[in-house]
Amino acid sequence: MLKITRSSELLELARLNQASSECGTCNALMNPGWESVPGSFDLKLLKIIGTLRDEDKPETWEEYHPHGTNSWSADAPIAIGYHPYTRCDIYECMNCTRKYLRYGEYGGYYVDERVRPLNAEFIIEG
Ligand SMILES: [Zn+2]
Repeated sequence: MLKITRSSELLELARLNQASSECGTCNALMNPGWESVPGSFDLKLLKIIGTLRDEDKPETWEEYHPHGTNSWSADAPIAIGYHPYTRCDIYECMNCTRKYLRYGEYGGYYVDERVRPLNAEFIIEG
């Protein structure tokens, strides 16, 4: 499994995200911003390929929104080192190999699985 610690590495991965055809498997996940994984989606259809998590670093809740976005914005930056990216693993669709970021938001009694396509256009360099 890849351990991604730099934006350049993440960008490289995102640029592999070039599947052009429609994908019947993951088209429910293609909203550009963060979304809860639909209950009807089978998470086994995503294969983990890497992580942005670094157990050696302290947990951060700080988000990166220099241009007035919020964490749900379709065009929110993908910023390594900021919440929620410090908690994300990287997955690919087993059918079309599109790449996704995913993490679990812990609620009271359950984990809300959240997913966002890994889109090179939003990755912050640095
Ligand atoms: Zn797919």
